[in-house]
Amino acid sequence: MLDSLQQTDKYEAVIGLEVHVQLSTKSKAFCYDSAQYGSKPNHNISPVSMGLPGALPMANQAIVKYAVKLGLAIGSTINQYNFFDRKNYFYADLPKGYQITQDNEPICKGGTVKIRLTNGHQKNIILNRIHIEEDAGKSIHDVDDNYSLIDLNRAGVSLLEVVTEPMIASGEEAAAYLAELRKLVRYLNICDGNMEEGSMRCDANVSIRLKGNTALGNRCEVKNLNSIKNVQRAIEHEISRQIQLSEAGVYIHQNTLNFDALTGITSVLRSKEMANDYRYFPEPDLLPLQLSNEYIEAIKQTMPALPEALYQQFIGQFGLPAYDALVLTADKETAEYFLSLTALVNNYKAASNWVMGTIRSYLNEKNIGFDKFPISAQQIAQLINKVEAGELNNNQAKEKVFVALLNHPTQKIDDLLKQLNVLIDTNTSTIDGFIMAALNKFPDKVKEYNSGKKGVLGLFMGELMKISGGKIDPKNANQLLVKQLEKLK
Ligand code: ADP
Ligand code: MG
Repeated sequence: MLDSLQQTDKYEAVIGLEVHVQLSTKSKAFCYDSAQYGSKPNHNISPVSMGLPGALPMANQAIVKYAVKLGLAIGSTINQYNFFDRKNYFYADLPKGYQITQDNEPICKGGTVKIRLTNGHQKNIILNRIHIEEDAGKSIHDVDDNYSLIDLNRAGVSLLEVVTEPMIASGEEAAAYLAELRKLVRYLNICDGNMEEGSMRCDANVSIRLKGNTALGNRCEVKNLNSIKNVQRAIEHEISRQIQLSEAGVYIHQNTLNFDALTGITSVLRSKEMANDYRYFPEPDLLPLQLSNEYIEAIKQTMPALPEALYQQFIGQFGLPAYDALVLTADKETAEYFLSLTALVNNYKAASNWVMGTIRSYLNEKNIGFDKFPISAQQIAQLINKVEAGELNNNQAKEKVFVALLNHPTQKIDDLLKQLNVLIDTNTSTIDGFIMAALNKFPDKVKEYNSGKKGVLGLFMGELMKISGGKIDPKNANQLLVKQLEKLK
């Protein structure tokens, strides 16, 4: 195989991604048919999606709004004069003989998506365009031995095609870009982002060139990748395949490729050099769409806080580490829950620890999201504040109280703490009693401490927690413990 280090010194990869984002509109792009996923075959169809003669399309307002939302979120220029085009080709799952799309005048031009890489670097991925498009139907080849079956439920479902400039440099960057785009469409609530169900499908255009060259090499396009992982795998495989060809002096043909997720290998689907001529022309059955300034302004007013802005706020306003900010803004529900906590507590880092640790582990274990999390931010905030006030031990809060709350999420915190008998004893003489008991148990360790081995403090603290049943404030107890030990010297 390749000596990959040597080769990456010599070559660089150039990648451009085309992502089809399926919009979560109730009806299809240009008719009233339901866009519901998973219906019985050919149940969400009508004369328009079957392409019957004389059937007329009309634009669904929601797709225009969703496209503008995504464009605004990434700083695109919104095209105010829009029309649709026909992309003509023959295929069994396309009964009209053309797809309605936007060719020359996409609704959004330009824009950037910021990605963060594992090495800490950031990069702005520049978009070429976002255009509105309808999906085709589905041909099903593996159900019947003799026939291919056609399901037109997907015919006419609304899509945005999001196209980057050729500037992505690796599989890792492509994966980071897709994760960021998916995060955005979910925040904006315009697509569920489930790649495995086909809600986001990616074509990856991959080429290589010698480092220092500015001209683009011949590209191969890997079609219909259905997970972020597979996009990364397909790109990485494709880069090394092309480098090998190039090293062997073989010409790289512009091909359209398939990726086999089982073997991790790409294979030729068709030659790009014989590409279809789609004979685009303006769709005569749909009126142009004129988007007024007021229309765009009104959409701006409905934009939610976006992950990048929240990320900056969590670091800047709440003083969180970048890692926390990234985890807490991974999805809108997590960010919103954390924000509700910050309105009720002063210790933001403690709130972050609860959300990233205890709560997230629980959600992961149950495989649910915040929408199904039973405990309100008000309840968790009270626990955080009790710990902060030295009335409750953090471990007790996380282990005992949290677990009890999961079963009785609305129980009053004060009652619950009494019931569980976990309120911290602030009475110094009780704590001193615990301390004496702990020290008496390990007289050797007391000697060790006195001879300078401060490390044994941890052992005493552990013992104290055990004896007290966790009902002491660790900070306070630690101070009293040191005092006692000094006295014994
Ligand atoms: P097409 O019309 O064949 O789909 P486009 O010009 O619209 O081609 O480009 C599609 C995608 O391919 C874009 O994301 C673009 O950045 C990318 N692309 C174009 N040329 C190259 C190349 N030489 N190497 C890598 N990606 C490329
Ligand atoms: Mg293409």
